[in-house]
Amino acid sequence: MPIVNRLADMSDEITAWRRDFHENPEILYETVRTGQKVAELLESFGVDEIATGLGKTGVVGVIKGRNGGAGKTIGLRADMDALPIEEQTGKPYASKIDGKMHACGHDGHTAMLLGAAKYLAETRNFDGTVIVIFQPAEEGGAGAKAMIDDGLMTRWPIEEVYGMHNFPGLPVGEFAIRKGGIMAATDEFRITITGRGGHAAKPHETIDPIVVGSQLVQALQTIASRNADPLKSVVVSVTTFNGGNAFNVIPQEVVLRGTVRTLDADVRDQAEERMKAITTSICEAFGATADFHFRRGYPVTVNHDDQTDFAVGIAEEIAGVGKVNTNIDPMMGGEDFSYMLEERPGAFIFVGNGDSAGLHHPQYDFNDELIPVGCSYWVRLVETALPTAA
Ligand SMILES: [Zn+2]
Ligand SMILES: [Zn+2]
Repeated sequence: MPIVNRLADMSDEITAWRRDFHENPEILYETVRTGQKVAELLESFGVDEIATGLGKTGVVGVIKGRNGGAGKTIGLRADMDALPIEEQTGKPYASKIDGKMHACGHDGHTAMLLGAAKYLAETRNFDGTVIVIFQPAEEGGAGAKAMIDDGLMTRWPIEEVYGMHNFPGLPVGEFAIRKGGIMAATDEFRITITGRGGHAAKPHETIDPIVVGSQLVQALQTIASRNADPLKSVVVSVTTFNGGNAFNVIPQEVVLRGTVRTLDADVRDQAEERMKAITTSICEAFGATADFHFRRGYPVTVNHDDQTDFAVGIAEEIAGVGKVNTNIDPMMGGEDFSYMLEERPGAFIFVGNGDSAGLHHPQYDFNDELIPVGCSYWVRLVETALPTAA
């Protein structure tokens, strides 16, 4: 496996950073200590510029190439936040903080991008500019969006952006990716149907929201079966149906809740539009009123075609042809790197974490053996995307 030699030599140092982050997990936007250490290390590497406080606690490092940074600018992104989980790994470097742990490997992502930054600042074997992005609050806080709202993409002229996530179950040294939607949009809805309550023996004097809600649950199924392109994925699940508390009373209202999962922005828009129209029309048809709430979670993580091809080429160079799955099934979980891919073309790749516990499991641990693999991917990506003129 053509790991970059210098990075193999740096492995122990990068592993030590990773384990320090692991011992000191911080959740959501609380990544103050982590961000401070990231900034201190970037400074010690001699990067050209450091910015802190983007998206509250995000950190950015700017590394200019041999030509002074002229030409193309690309962004590499890592996430820094941990999870509110009690660690059960029993590792000597286990979390020192009760109820918090790095159970998604963001400690490893941060350490690997730092390793790449150190190498790139030392060697500068590229023309152009690299922006290393360390974001808070990937786990449900939309930290990527907060950094974008603070000018991440415009303060530096980032043209393309790349992300990486470890993947339990995929052997160390292997990669997986796909073009198009790779992680789902995870949206949530709540519908309150208000009718007119009354005596169960006098239905003609009521507007029964249970009957209306039942029609609505059926009608919502047509979004997947009749509206969405059959070759695209959409899940509309009504997961709670609450109303009434007596056998002889027709209630005044019922509340339906559920989730919508999609892998395509158009299908997502269509699902929301159709849900709203169906809800309003069905309720109106029966004389009830509807209060429709659709709360958008993270968007679909969509890999761009050209950048995915490019990422596959780099991954194959590191791992070898046949060790890169170029068409992995999309995951129905969400990922906030999606916001960056909405702003700029780029690609999100999975790197094998070996035979470990799953992400978000109390026994999960980032596999330090993949450090040289992930770091090599980052630096070869930069040196290939931003070749020197010489
Ligand atoms: Zn996670
Ligand atoms: Zn994660």
